[in-house]
Amino acid sequence: MGAQANKKGRIIFNSACSSTVKIPVGISSCLVGERVRYDGGHKLDTYITQTLGDYFEYSTFCPEVAIGMGIPRKPIRLIRLGLDSIRCVAVDDSGRDFTQALEQCTDRQREWHEKLCGYIFKKNSPSCGLERVKIWAESSTDAGQEPGEEGVGIYAEKLMENYPTLPVIDESRLGDAVLRENFIQQVFALHRWRLENNLESNAKQELQETTKD
Ligand code: SF4
Repeated sequence: MGAQANKKGRIIFNSACSSTVKIPVGISSCLVGERVRYDGGHKLDTYITQTLGDYFEYSTFCPEVAIGMGIPRKPIRLIRLGLDSIRCVAVDDSGRDFTQALEQCTDRQREWHEKLCGYIFKKNSPSCGLERVKIWAESSTDAGQEPGEEGVGIYAEKLMENYPTLPVIDESRLGDAVLRENFIQQVFALHRWRLENNLESNAKQELQETTKD
C-alpha cells in the first residue's frame, strides 16, 4: 500500500508512493470552516484542513445551501413516515419536505463526484451524516422526546448509492486510528488505480495513433 497514517494521524508514505499530486476528496463545507451551517456557524476541523490538507485537494460542498435553503435557516431533521419512508423535513413544519430536492441535488453533482477518491462527511447531519443520524417519529413535536432510530443523511446516502466503492468517512471516525488508516489507505489506493488506468489508456491511445500513421 502507498500510504498509511501514524498514531497521530500524520500520513507516512512508502517508497513507491508519490506525495507530489494532491488527491481529490469531497468534503462537507462546514468542516473546512465555511460558515454554512443553519445557525451561520462552521465546524472547522484542523486535522482535516492542516494534516490531511497537505495531501488532499478538497472539493467543498454544502447540499442545504445548494438547494437554496439560505444561511441562516430553519433546522431540518429526518422523520419516519409509515413503515419504510424516511423524509428530511423542517423541524418546525413536517410539511416542508426537502428530501427530493436533496436527492436531485446530489445527482446534479456527478460531474465532480465521479473524479473524487474519497469523501469526508459531517457527522449527525440529516443531509451529510454518514450513519447514526437521528430519525424522529413524525409526531415527535416535543423537543424533549428522544428519536428511536438511526439513519443516514439524504445527500450522503444518495452519493453512496451513486458511487458504492468511493471511500467515505465522517470527522468523528477520523479520530479512530484504525478507521482513519483504513480510509486513508483506500483513498490512496483508488487514486493510484485511477492514475495507472489513465496512464494505460493514454498509452493505448498513443499506440493507436502511431499505428494509424
Ligand atoms: S453538515 Fe452538510 S448540510 Fe450541514 S452545514 Fe455542513 S455541509 Fe452544510
